[in-house]
Formats: sequence, structure tokens, C-alpha cells
Amino acid sequence: MKLCRFDDDRLGLVQGEFVRDVTPALEAIPARHWPHGPGDALIANLDAVAAAVHRIAPTAPRHPLGAVSLRSPVANPSKVMAAPANYRAHVAVDGRDPGVDHGVHLKQIEGMEAPTEKLGLFLKAVSSLAGPGDGLALGDPMRRHDHEVELTVIIGRRVRGISQADALSCVAGYCIGLDMTMRGTEDRSWRKSLDGYTLLGPWLTTADEIADPHRLDLELSVNGEMRQRSSTGDMTVRIERLIELAAATYTLHPGDVLMTGTPAGVGPVAAGDTIRAACSGIGGMTVLVTGRD
Ligand code: MN
Repeated sequence: MKLCRFDDDRLGLVQGEFVRDVTPALEAIPARHWPHGPGDALIANLDAVAAAVHRIAPTAPRHPLGAVSLRSPVANPSKVMAAPANYRAHVAVDGRDPGVDHGVHLKQIEGMEAPTEKLGLFLKAVSSLAGPGDGLALGDPMRRHDHEVELTVIIGRRVRGISQADALSCVAGYCIGLDMTMRGTEDRSWRKSLDGYTLLGPWLTTADEIADPHRLDLELSVNGEMRQRSSTGDMTVRIERLIELAAATYTLHPGDVLMTGTPAGVGPVAAGDTIRAACSGIGGMTVLVTGRD
């Protein structure tokens, strides 16, 4: 099932080039009162919502996908986790670029076979979440801002401590993520948490549709020029291990976002650019880049 959030927080079921407006399925989510626990209510109640979606979809209003504006498929994660330098070629090729390195990056990961094992995951502000329909407003025009396309995992249930063997059982689904990055010497959490710099889309593809998340083709182009293209099988630390690492450190909650690292080919974007990102098994999304007001 491919579930999207579109326009004014409508819930959509994606069917080919169309979207069914299945917003009434959100009534399957129990009302919550302050203070409610961490986590995304839609993901926490995904089974009930999905059952309602199946019931109402056949007669639900239908729109062409191109006529709706896609938002982040997850609205309220308790955290956005991300793996640093998780593709060998990204480290080996992009890391040599002084515009990427800034005298800090390579020094930190030199000689490491699997940097995430040493560095752990980093966190991004949840206020940086956006969807493709929101566009991407770049920060400081004097700085360089890079695209990083990443297979992104959405956690489906509360979990604390889980083995690699069981790790994929807590995955609700997958989407494409842009881990947008302002280059410089500051900490990652600072440079990657600008408003809109965690861009998720085009929708949530539920885990049952992805037989093997390490056999997907991930790519990103800017203005039609291919910049990044890789198999997700090239990750140095695999998703099962990333989840094990995360859940050994903090409780994971429904809707939590795990960005799994970017392949080689990161590069700058500028106002006026059009980013196109795609992943087999999920779909594709287009993002327009603008300056900030
Ligand atoms: Mn990244």
C-alpha cells in the first residue's frame, strides 16, 4: 500500500497515476489528549487505518497525482535519525571535494570501514520535515547546500532493544528522503536541520511491498542531469544493524524516521533548480528549489 499526505492534510491511497482521497480512514485513529506520548498517531494505528482505507477506497474521490501537492508522509515523528557516511563511494569520492570536507569530514572518518559503527547515528530536528509539494527553500545564500538522496525507513512500533534478526519486523514502510546539507564546519545536527532540510516523499510504501530493502535502485538528478545513482545494497552498515544500534540507545516510537545514508555524487543545488529523486519499489518525486524569503 502506498499512502500519501496531500494538500491540506488529506490522506491518499496512491494507485498508479491517481490518488484516492481516503481521509475518512483517519477516523480509525483514537482521539488523544495532552500530554500524549511520543510518536505519530497515524503510524501507531496503521493497521486500523489501512483496513479502513481498503473499505472506502473503491468509492473514494479520485484525483490525478499531478494535481495534488504532496506533504511529508509522516507528520509527527519523535525523532529523525540519520547514518553518516554509510556508502563507501560517497566517502571515497565526495569526501575528496574540499567544498564537502571543510577540513573536518575526512579527518573524522579516515580509515573507517563502516563509519556509522564508530560515529553512531546523528539526529536532525523534526521541525526540518517537509514534503515534495512544499518545495525546498535554501538557507544562507553565501553557503553551499547539497542534496543527499537516501532510502528512508519509517519505524512502525515502539521498540527498545532489538536484534538484527528481528529488526525489520518493526519497520512500517519506506520512503525517499532528501537529507539536505549546508556545508561548513558546524555539527551535522546544525547544518542539516534547517527548515525543510529533511524532505520526505513521495509517500509511504508499506513494508510488505518491499521484499528486500537492500536491493533497490536509488537515484537523484538535478535539472535532468544524473547526480546520484546506486543500489541500496552498497550501504556499509545495513538497515537491520542501524535499527539495532538505534534501539540499543533510545526507544524507537511509531513514525520515527531513519535515514540510511547517501551514495556518491552529492552536489550543490541553487534557487531555480529542479530535483528529481526516485527509488525502485517506491516511486519518484520532484522538488523545486527556491531561495529563502
Ligand atoms: Mn545523509
